[in-house]
Parts: sequence; C-alpha cells; structure tokens
Amino acid sequence: MLASVLIQYSVKSLNKEFDYLIPNNLIKRIRIGNKVIVPFGSSKVEGFVLNIHDNIDKSLEYREIIEIEESDFYLNDELLKLGKYMSDSLLCNLISCYQVMLPKALKASLKTNINRKYETKVYLNKNIDVDKYIFENKRNKREIEILNILKERECLKKEFGSSINRLIEKGIVVSETYEVNREVQVDEDKRNIYLTDEQKNAVKEIQNSNDNKFLLYGVTGSGKTEVYIELLKNVLKENKTGIVLVPEISLTPQIVARFKGVFGDKIAVFHSSLSEGEKYDEYRRIMNNEVSFVVGARSAIFAPLKNIGLIIIDECQSNTYKQESTPKYNAIDIAFKRSEYNNAKVVLGSATPLLEQYARAKKGVFHLIKLGNRISGKFPSFEIVDMNKETKKHNYIISDKLDAEISGSLSRNEQVILLLNRRGYSTFLSCSNCGYVYKCPNCDISLIYHKSSNSYSCHYCGYRVASSSICPKCHEEAIKDLGLGTEKLESLLLKKYNTKVLRMDADTTSTKNAHRKLINEFSSHKYNILVGTQMISKGLNFENVSLVGIINPDASLSIPDFRSSERTYELLSQTSGRVGRFDLPGKVIIQTYNPNNYVYQNVVKNDFESFFNYEMNIRHKLMYPPYFYICSILITSSTFEEASKGSIKVKEYLDKHLDENYIILGPSVSSIVRLNNKYRFNIMIKYKDNAKLLKVLKELNDINIKNVNIDINPNI
Ligand SMILES: [Zn+2]
Ligand SMILES: [Zn+2]
Repeated sequence: MLASVLIQYSVKSLNKEFDYLIPNNLIKRIRIGNKVIVPFGSSKVEGFVLNIHDNIDKSLEYREIIEIEESDFYLNDELLKLGKYMSDSLLCNLISCYQVMLPKALKASLKTNINRKYETKVYLNKNIDVDKYIFENKRNKREIEILNILKERECLKKEFGSSINRLIEKGIVVSETYEVNREVQVDEDKRNIYLTDEQKNAVKEIQNSNDNKFLLYGVTGSGKTEVYIELLKNVLKENKTGIVLVPEISLTPQIVARFKGVFGDKIAVFHSSLSEGEKYDEYRRIMNNEVSFVVGARSAIFAPLKNIGLIIIDECQSNTYKQESTPKYNAIDIAFKRSEYNNAKVVLGSATPLLEQYARAKKGVFHLIKLGNRISGKFPSFEIVDMNKETKKHNYIISDKLDAEISGSLSRNEQVILLLNRRGYSTFLSCSNCGYVYKCPNCDISLIYHKSSNSYSCHYCGYRVASSSICPKCHEEAIKDLGLGTEKLESLLLKKYNTKVLRMDADTTSTKNAHRKLINEFSSHKYNILVGTQMISKGLNFENVSLVGIINPDASLSIPDFRSSERTYELLSQTSGRVGRFDLPGKVIIQTYNPNNYVYQNVVKNDFESFFNYEMNIRHKLMYPPYFYICSILITSSTFEEASKGSIKVKEYLDKHLDENYIILGPSVSSIVRLNNKYRFNIMIKYKDNAKLLKVLKELNDINIKNVNIDINPNI
C-alpha cells in the first residue's frame, strides 16, 4: 500500500505530494489525515497523509514512511477540505494550514509518548494478610503508616515518595500505572441564570430562524453571555456540538467560569496559558468525543468536533481573531466555512461590532438581533474633561475632576478603574543636554523605561538594556524619562492617595495564571484602584467599581490606521462598560485634548448608531472597508535600497497585471521603517472583487520575489 504524503517542499512551497510505502507495522494504524514522518533527501520531514492507495508503479522505487506522529490524531474530511479552502483564499501553502489545526506539541516532537502523562496508583495486595504483616514489622514506622493509609483508600504513588518501593518489591502492595489527563485549572461560576424578556426573545429568534449568520448586538452589560449559555443548552439537547471563541481566554476568565459552571466536563478549554501537554490532553478529549463544547481563542475554531450546531464568536470586533503569521486566516471566515459544512449557526456578539459587520447586519447579510437594555437597568454617567484647561493649572496626568471623583469613591470604600493604554514607566527617553533619543538598535522606534526591571526595552523585538541616566552620546547625566506609562501612573497614585493600587498589563500578567489571580484579588477588594492597559477593558465584572477614568485616549486616536477611530470608540465604550453593572451607579471620566472629537461625543451619548453613520461617511470618501476590501503587501529587506527596489518591482508587476478596478497605493515606507533589522515597505490594494486579484497575487507569490508578504484583509 502507498500513502500520498503532503510535505513541506520549500519555503514558498507549492503544495507537493509524494508517494511512500506503508510498512507492515503501520498498516493497521495509519489513516488519512495522520501526521507522519517520512524520509526526504537525506533528512526526515513531517507530512500529512492525504490519500491511501495501491497504484504502485513498478518502475519506481518508493521509500517507506518512518513513523506516525500520533495515530489517534488525524484531520477529518471536513478539516482536510477546510485546509484547501484556506490555502487557496489566503495564498499560503497547504501544509501550513494543516499544521495550524493541530496542537503544537505534536509538531515539535518525534517521540509519540513525550506528551503523555502517567500516574501510578497503589493498593494493598488482597491475597496477603496485611494485619499480620503489620504485627510482624512493628518497628518499621514509615511502612506501617503507609499500610494504614492504604487500608482506608487507594493512593497515588507520588504521595509516599520512595519508601513505597520496598513494599511493592515484597509484594505487600500492588501498583498499577495508567495514563491520565492533566487537570486544567479553570474557575467555575455556578450562579443561577435568569433571563430577561429581551434575552429570552433573542434566544427564541435565533433558534426559530432559518438563517445561519447572526449579529447579536448588545450594549455592554446587556447579558450576552446568558444568551450564549441558553443557546448552547439547546445545542446539547439536539445532541450537537458547539464552539465558543473569545478574544483571548486569559483576559476573560469570568466568562469561561460561567460556561464551566453550567456545562462542567462537557467543555474543553483551550487556554493560552495551558502548557503544550495540557493542550494535548484537551485535544484528545475532543478526539475521543468526550466533550460537546470547546471554548478558546482563535485557533479553537479548528477543534475537530463533529456535527457542529453552533459557533459563537464573542467580541467579534476583536483583532485577535485574525492570525498575523502564516496562514493569515480570520477565525470568523473559518467559522462561516465550518457552518456551511455542518449547517451550523454562527452568532457574532458585540457591543461595538466592526463597521463592516454592522453594515452587513443592516443589509441583511447577518440577521441582526439587538439587546438594548442593561440587566442592571443603569447606564454610567459620563464627563469629558478638557485637558487643555487642566495643563494651565499644571494638572498633566490627573484632572481636578478625576481627582475629586477618585477621592470620593475611595472615601465611600468603592473601587476605581483607570485605563492607560501604555505599559512601562515612561514612553520616551531623551537627553536634556544634547537631545539624544534612546532607540532600539534593531527597530526604528524609541525604547521604553521599565522601572520594575530597571531596564530600557523595545516593545516590538524584546531588546533590553540596563537603564542608565548617563547619555551614551554626550556622557552627561541628563537622560530624562518622558511620557506616561502604567508603571509611572501606578507609583503616582500610590503617593497621591496612599491606597492599594493594582497594575494589570503585559508585564504583570506574563506568568501562568497571573491574570486570574489579579482579577480575583481585585474582585475580592484587596485593592482599591486598578490601573491597566486595554486588557482590562473586556469581559470583567466587578460589583464594587463605581468609577472609570480614561487617561490619554488621544494616543490611540492618533495611530495612523483607518481603524483608529473605531478602535478608540471600542476601547472607551468597553472600558466604561465595566461600571454600573450591578447596584452601584457608575461614573466615567474621559480626559482628552480633543473634547469635541466625534468619537468621544458619541461614546458619551452611548450612540453607536450615530458614530457608525459618521464613520461610514468617512470610509466612503476615503474608499476604505466596508466599501472596499484591502490587501496589504509588505516588502522587507536587510538594506533600505533592496527593500525599496523590491517594492518598486512589485508595484510594476501589479500595474501590469491589474486593471483600473484595482487601486494600488504605494510603495511607501511602513509606519515603523525598520523592525527587527528589516526595512519595510508597503503596498496597499483596494478592490471590490477578488477573483482576478487572487490569481495575480498567486503568480506574484510563485515567481518567488523574496521577502514579499501578502495579507488579504489585514488587521492593519
Ligand atoms: Zn546627551
Ligand atoms: Zn526592537
């Protein structure tokens, strides 16, 4: 028998299959979709079995498959087809699509047992009179202790350390080794669920509709999670399965706890802080049909569930659903594709959907369902503070108004959340003597001071150097840290209010389960103020928070990206959604130098509709999504000249092959000219119909111009 195996042939591989002989010892285990190790040239490579057949060509000499990586895991028919669709529509090689569908642990190792976890249980040998043994061996205290425990119950070997071995050797105790699943640490929230009429209607409408694509547009605090849970309960009744995607699972432990509280073991969780081994265990539970639902971030969309009835994509506006590395897929597109195959419903949920999502809902492409009321019945009250006036009073960071509100909340023993979307201590380091600016040697970007680690670091490539107040250029002690990061704000608040301040950003949450711990600590009121970056904006419910302060949202608004207004609206509206969810009335203070900007004005009125209309108008004029699609081409090289020349070549190629229906912009240098020692140029194509574009880009890919990176519908 032969197996056609897809292997990685070259970097920009063509999708290449080669036939290999299946050795006798593998013939019973091998199946289509398995990942195998095969010889190729003088090395061993990984590949996927795409076909098994016996069309042996006697004039050829075949080599043998070496091993199956994990015979229990395989890509089923649906996933194999899905990979082909991805490869065609994303212009990437097929094998990278299949690789992304399996947990990483499988990728790395050639040894099949490395990921398995074993435990050994010990119990008394029933054929031996233990009491007699105890009587005869009274002096051996540790042995007697162990035997007395074992009289009560079976035990794990590791509980006894090494002293158990002698008892096993003597045959008094018997041991048995078996494979176990690692336990995944997830909180459970078992509170009862009561649906409001609005929520009940939403559930009914989704269930009774013949449509398959829904946008559940619900204001923050309107209880989308309860709707999801109710929908999933019905999926379970129909004996079907479901996938729930959340933007980043470690950021939303409270939502996951709700699901876990209702469905318990029926849920597999793909948690970003799971070890590879833990992911492997969860994956196996899915392969063995032990779970009905999978909750996870982006890659959970590839869960090998069968008979999917429902896919929920919470916070569907999140840019985390798009993968930035090859294959550059968007999990929402994949969800629609899987929905076609399984005839499943897809529910996108958000309080601030992307413009294109909301536009599609209004056009009827998605069935629009609204949740307009908060469960608590309360919306927070807003106030915009004009920082131009405050700086005249020398208030650069905290305005008089915010100061008064913080003091008020603290005096009433209520909690405060402050959003500052910049981590680190300062945001800029420069010499006050000669004007030198500390920049990353690998990237064209300034270094950020981190007080806790006493270092200057680059947030793009991770470069780090010990901090020093001496200027490397003029050697004066004159380096000043300018700008405001979360670390500086934290220390300032400590001084000013003399209260317990918790900081939550990428630096304080890098260790396993740190996120959950910090959230639980704030939730149980061990801290009075929470300072954080955008990671605090979503999915968190704190009963005792009465005030949200937003420090310097202008920074996010000034990012050169057509989505910056939309992202800022989302950030502010999501963060302000953290107050007033329970009994306490909520207050939100926005500090800005542009108080009249339409983003702030509409956030304050909680008027997404009017923000949508205003922003759509701008998009229309500038020919951006949803009026046009976008494809971005990045050209990189280690020298500026080569990158520039390469980008001009690409532009000439596109001009030659694309007609006037395609608008080609650039080449221009990227917003960060140099990243990780590579110079970067961009070309952007705006278009309405991609049929021809894909063909042209595929050829561009194939003529193999080095360092050309194509991203269709990029996040930007
Ligand atoms: Zn200097
Ligand atoms: Zn760097």
